[in-house]
Amino acid sequence: MTSLDKSLLDEFESIVGASHALHEDELVASYSTDWTGRFKGSTPLVLRPGTTEEVAQILRVASDANVALVPQGGNTGLVGGSVPLRGEVVLSLLRLNVCEPVDVLAQQVSLGAGVTLAQAQNHVSPFNLAIGVDLAARDSCTIGGMIATNAGGINVVRYGPMRDQLLGVEAVTADGSSISHLEGLEKDNTGYHLPGLFAGSEGSLAVITKARLRLHPQLDERCSAMLAFKSVGDAVSATAQLRRSVPDLHAVEVIFREAMDLVSDYISTSIPVRSDGSAWLIVEAASSSDPTDQLAQAIGDLGDLVLDVAVGHDSTSRAGLWQFREKITEAIATRGTPHKLDVTLPASELAEFVSRIPEIISEVDRRATAVMFGHLGDGNVHVNVLGDDGLEPDNEVESAVLGYVAQLGGSISAEHGIGTAKKEFLHLNRSGQEIAIFRAIKSSFDPKGILSPNTLIPAEEQ
Ligand SMILES: Cc1cc2nc3c(=O)[nH]c(=O)nc-3n(C[C@H](O)[C@H](O)[C@H](O)COP(=O)(O)OP(=O)(O)OC[C@H]3O[C@@H](n4cnc5c(N)ncnc54)[C@H](O)[C@@H]3O)c2cc1C
Repeated sequence: MTSLDKSLLDEFESIVGASHALHEDELVASYSTDWTGRFKGSTPLVLRPGTTEEVAQILRVASDANVALVPQGGNTGLVGGSVPLRGEVVLSLLRLNVCEPVDVLAQQVSLGAGVTLAQAQNHVSPFNLAIGVDLAARDSCTIGGMIATNAGGINVVRYGPMRDQLLGVEAVTADGSSISHLEGLEKDNTGYHLPGLFAGSEGSLAVITKARLRLHPQLDERCSAMLAFKSVGDAVSATAQLRRSVPDLHAVEVIFREAMDLVSDYISTSIPVRSDGSAWLIVEAASSSDPTDQLAQAIGDLGDLVLDVAVGHDSTSRAGLWQFREKITEAIATRGTPHKLDVTLPASELAEFVSRIPEIISEVDRRATAVMFGHLGDGNVHVNVLGDDGLEPDNEVESAVLGYVAQLGGSISAEHGIGTAKKEFLHLNRSGQEIAIFRAIKSSFDPKGILSPNTLIPAEEQ
């Protein structure tokens, strides 16, 4: 356990109450290791504030005493940003879990930062409304964490990422001052858009305590299909065609060969379409009226591009197809601790990228394997590199893969963020001038550098 002055510990504890200030090793353990098990830290204290005012008081004390903190939501982040790697205090926002009444007239809702995505979905669905972002970690990830990472997920092709859902935030900056802009006005050109700045800030600028989200009509009529392709290039071409021809396209997810074999084995279910392909798409159309005909017509128009198709009309058969996509991350975790490289490529480079990756990785680590899947509608590929026999792969695979991504004009982080895992690679996508601006923004919100000091911004060269 890292030490913290006893009087400071008492001061923090008096803000949240003894039962919400955790310091015993067994109580703080789960807050100190990330979801993948790759990033393990330690903390002298986990604080679980129940109100925005308690968050503000904690930050005032921390700022005066120069104590660094790591804000944490559901701890499902995949780049090591949510854990205390250098003995920071953990600020768990899970108790800020109030869902305010749905504003049906405006089609908006204000949610506490600690509300989980599943809770938010259940809260708005009785009003025939839906949250625009959905992802497999929905039972644990929180609204605050999703904003801080600008989470993407399976419906970006239709609604955009978390930043596009944000109409306002309430947040507390490092010195304990609160900012609140929750009116939810769709048009509000009164200067800088702070919610947009907080989206993707990974806890480095402010602690998000509440958010005002735009909602979308709930689309209960759905049709899903799994499509098998001979080559990755065919899957990319089909995606472009489907995006043009299916007005109610809701998701286009891709699973590549190793990922398909792994997940099929993990869920003990054989692949419902031809298994001799190189890539499989899971496509979903959603509407207020049955979208089966529009999807069937568009798939028919793909002609020989597709090897085989399975369609899911009702919720059971759709879930049967979707489990192949939703269970991949869990399936990978059973094989070891992967290095997760979440990247975006220009559409024209995707096929070349996927075919070259195994070779690029094996040049660095002969025994490592790449398990790839992603959100093809957004050009987003998750490259999971597993080492031999459950071990982690050689660290050099990261610079080899990310360097190749940058060379092809892609992004080294599609949706998971930079965190601690990728901050030394930020220069591959951002110029020195941009990183200098990042530092200036960080220091105007957090001049002492006490918020999430290990994420996003690389160390300055001496
Ligand atoms: C099975 C699985 C599937 C996933 N699928 C996707 C996917 O499809 N798309 C995607 O984008 N991500 C995905 N993720 C990653 C992850 O779920 C998201 O990044 C999620 O948004 C993180 O939310 P969280 O509450 O768990 O945040 P945490 O992991 O707790 O924190 C993530 C970052 O946000 C900061 N943070 C957390 N709360 C706050 C706050 N209130 N104020 C300020 N900073 C804060 C933390 O300091 C940290 O830097 C997946 C993860 C898993 C485990």
